[in-house]
Amino acid sequence: MQHETFRIGQGFDRHRLVEGRPLILGGVLIPYDRGLAGHSDADVLLHAITDALLGAVAIGDIGELFPDTDPDYKGADSTVLLANVVGIIESKGWKVHNLDCTIFAQLPKLLPFKMPIRNSIASILKIGTDVVSVKAKTGEHVGTIGRGEAIDASAIVLLTEITDERSNT
Ligand code: MG
Repeated sequence: MQHETFRIGQGFDRHRLVEGRPLILGGVLIPYDRGLAGHSDADVLLHAITDALLGAVAIGDIGELFPDTDPDYKGADSTVLLANVVGIIESKGWKVHNLDCTIFAQLPKLLPFKMPIRNSIASILKIGTDVVSVKAKTGEHVGTIGRGEAIDASAIVLLTEITDERSNT
């Protein structure tokens, strides 16, 4: 196979907004009167990022690696699942070069939480906050997002090969 320098991956996820659950986005607890339903902590943004990483190395999706029928993953911390996948891509010789994500939510307003979310993701991926982009869109009051029935997230990631730093000295 020809030598590769980069791999690109994309991910998407959707979770329903319900009462009686905490809202966790990108590993950050967001104050809101509703949260996302799911078998795990339902962190829709980290799930999209996890799928983007898996897609870049073409090894399936988050549902295959962490089945929602498996009691081990009930209430699972999505930061741990993502860190696990970071370890997998590292073992295959890849690291994250940069990441661009979008959260689709009518409410709450996410502007005050963008920087904490970027810092949280950067720390899980072991990269700088300057290469982690988090954008937010409303649903323009229409559709599942606009009516506040769900929150969506999408992510695109570029991986680059891990090179031996010592060879540069
Ligand atoms: Mg999910």
